[in-house]
Amino acid sequence: MSLAALAGFVVGAFAVLFYRNQIETPNRTESSHDAEVGALPQGVASVLAVLPSSAVVLDAHDRVLRASSAARAFGLVKGDRLMAAELLALARQVRRDGEIRESEIEVAGHRFGQETTSFAVRVAPLGSHGQVLVLAEDQTEMRRVDAVRRDFVANVSHELKTPVGALSLLAETIQDAADDPEAVTRFAGRMQHEAARLAYLVQDLITLSRIQGAEPIPTPGQVLIDEVVHEAIDYSTTKAAGKDITLVSGGLEGLRVWGDEELLATALRNLIDNAIAYSPEHTRVVVSTRPAGESVEISVSDQGIGIPEEALERIFERFFRVDAARSRATGGTGLGLAIVKHVAAAHGGEVTVWSKEGSGSTFTLRLPAFGGTAVAVPKPLEAAL
Ligand code: ADP
Repeated sequence: MSLAALAGFVVGAFAVLFYRNQIETPNRTESSHDAEVGALPQGVASVLAVLPSSAVVLDAHDRVLRASSAARAFGLVKGDRLMAAELLALARQVRRDGEIRESEIEVAGHRFGQETTSFAVRVAPLGSHGQVLVLAEDQTEMRRVDAVRRDFVANVSHELKTPVGALSLLAETIQDAADDPEAVTRFAGRMQHEAARLAYLVQDLITLSRIQGAEPIPTPGQVLIDEVVHEAIDYSTTKAAGKDITLVSGGLEGLRVWGDEELLATALRNLIDNAIAYSPEHTRVVVSTRPAGESVEISVSDQGIGIPEEALERIFERFFRVDAARSRATGGTGLGLAIVKHVAAAHGGEVTVWSKEGSGSTFTLRLPAFGGTAVAVPKPLEAAL
């Protein structure tokens, strides 16, 4: 091997090691100091390279000797400086007494739109030259998920407390009115109403947790969309009749998707129920199906109150309601659209909404067609009522 080839090989090997380890050494101008404390104890660089955390090694003078690319990307290190003052103080304490320390720190957000990044940090002495190792784990996502979970539990407790409280009050009232049969009948009716609300809420919570934990769907099969539409419309017919709302189905027949018929019917039922609940009497709700390339679309249109533009992106959140009083009055649980969103996602599809206040809304479920292409036969609009 010629000298030039050998030199090339050595340089190449260092370059590969550098990238594999993703550990960078900051540019230094003074190198005399490095000779004394600059070298990492043997094997440390390789160990740091396999750690998932952001890793930083400080020398005896608080200068960054090594930093993983993650540590730089998170903004913990700039040049040869550790940026978080809290972390630097911790490193100095560790250097002083040689004790390993753990802590949690917040660092100003480095990504657009992110206020802070939370880190779980571990700081330890390294070798005998006053070097200190800092390991930092990004906890932001974990914290966010925790907060969402806590919010959900708080919301569920609140939602459960309302009907339970009402039931307890009504039971007391009935006791007091024991010798007034008319009042007893009236309050018993209201008790039934509250008990039904509780049952809907529990049922929706069960459906939501089932669908959230069931991605992908446990036992998918070929589903004929006509069956789904038929089942959902059948279920809502009485509710529509109660408000003299005409339920119409139309579009194209014979469309198929791959999934779970019961879940899809639940999703469509929620959309139809909403269309009825948020529409005035004597209006029309239209359910229509159509092929759209590799997808199948089922849409539910109403002539109802519509949704304010600023609320459109929040309506699929659990327990979000535009008008809480109205939702409760119509027996809403605030979970219907969250269920629809999860059912669509579990099928590899999505749900979208178009709405105009005072004119009405159209919700569209878009699902991947069975076999990759939607095949259908025309069907005239038909009134279900
Ligand atoms: P709810 O049980 O309150 O109906 P959903 O999750 O089904 O809960 O819907 C969330 C909110 O979105 C509703 O409270 C309502 O404000 C709004 N909404 C849903 N569907 C419609 C619709 N078709 N027309 C008008 N508003 C709607």
